[in-house]
Amino acid sequence: MSLPHRYRKDFSPLSLLYRWISNLQLGRIHRFLTLSLFCMTSPVWAGWILSNIPLQKGFTKIPMVSTRTLPKWEIPPPQQAARMGAFCAQLKPFFKRHNWKEDPCGQVAWRTHYHSAQGNPLIYTEFGTGRNTTLFFGGVHPDELTPIQLSFRLAQHLHDHPEIYRDKDIRIIVAPLINPDGAFVSPPIRTNRTIDVNRNFLTLDWYEKAHASWQKKNRQPRFFPGFFPNSEIETHFQIFLMNTYQPTKILSMHSPLGFYDYDGPEEDTPAPGGTPREFIYTVAKKSNNYKVVNYAIFPGSLGTFAGYERNVPTITLELETNDTTKVYAYWKQFFPGFLHSIQHTFSTPTLSLRKK
Ligand SMILES: [Zn+2]
Repeated sequence: MSLPHRYRKDFSPLSLLYRWISNLQLGRIHRFLTLSLFCMTSPVWAGWILSNIPLQKGFTKIPMVSTRTLPKWEIPPPQQAARMGAFCAQLKPFFKRHNWKEDPCGQVAWRTHYHSAQGNPLIYTEFGTGRNTTLFFGGVHPDELTPIQLSFRLAQHLHDHPEIYRDKDIRIIVAPLINPDGAFVSPPIRTNRTIDVNRNFLTLDWYEKAHASWQKKNRQPRFFPGFFPNSEIETHFQIFLMNTYQPTKILSMHSPLGFYDYDGPEEDTPAPGGTPREFIYTVAKKSNNYKVVNYAIFPGSLGTFAGYERNVPTITLELETNDTTKVYAYWKQFFPGFLHSIQHTFSTPTLSLRKK
C-alpha cells in the first residue's frame, strides 16, 4: 500500500540540499545565493567525486603467472620441508577417503620449489642420475582419481627398488600431483579451480585455436584454457621440470578413456632402440596389450607442447576408469609398461623445436 504523496519523503539530491538550506534558516536572498553558488560550482564537485573512484575498478584484474612474477611463487628453502610435511599430512585423509591403504608420501625424498594459488607445494622426486630421463606426471586432472594413486605408488616403488636405475644411466622424475588445488576440493575437479592445466601450454596454435576449441565444447568451465597461455603455476611447474631434466620421454597419466595415446616424432626411419612408434607399441604390449590410439591433438596440451612441437616422445596413459577400487589391478597391469618406458633408450637427442 503506498502512502499519500505528502507523507512520502523525497530523497533526491536537490530536495535534500533544499531542505538542508531551509534548516539553516537563511533569508530568501541568502538562500538564493547559496543555491546559485552550489549550482555554479557543481562541475567542480562532480570532478572531485569522479576522481576519487579508483581507476582499476573499471577493469577486471586477471591473475596470471609470468616468468617475471615466477619468483613470487617460490617457497623459500627453509620453509620447504615444513610445507611438504603439511601437504603429505593433508594427502593422508584424501587417500583414506578412497580406501587406498598406503601412506601417499611414504619414505620418498620429495622436493618442491613452487606452490599453487592455494599455497599447496608442487612436489616431485628424482631417482638416478643418468642421461636417459623419463618424466612421469600424475594428477593433472584431479577428478581423474586413479592416476594420482598410481603415480604416488610408482614413486614409492622406485624408492624401494633402486636396482632399477642404480649405475644404469637412467633418471626418473615423478611429479604425482601436478594440480593439488583441484584435488583438495570435494569432490575433486578437473581444473585448478579456474583453468584446465592441460590446455594452458603456450603451443604454437594456442592464440589461434585454444578458445575456438573451447567454444566448440560449449564453453564448459572445466575445459577453459585460460585467458592467456602459460598463465598457470602448474603449467610453469611442468615446463620447469622439462627444462631442468631435458627428458627423453614423458608419460602423463589420465583416465577414464581407456587407451595409450602417443604424441611425438612421427619419423619412422629405423634407428637403434627402435622408432618412437615401435616404443609406444612395446609399452602397450607390456601393459597387457592395451589399446593404442591416435587421439585428437588439443591446443595448449602437454602432448602438443612437448610431443608434437618439441619432439619429445610423449605418452598419455588413459586408464579405463575412475573406479578407485581398481588401482591395485591397474598397478599390476601398467607397471611393466612403466618399466619399459624407463629402460628404453632413444638413439637421437630430443627436446628441440619441430623442423617442418
Ligand atoms: Zn585428463
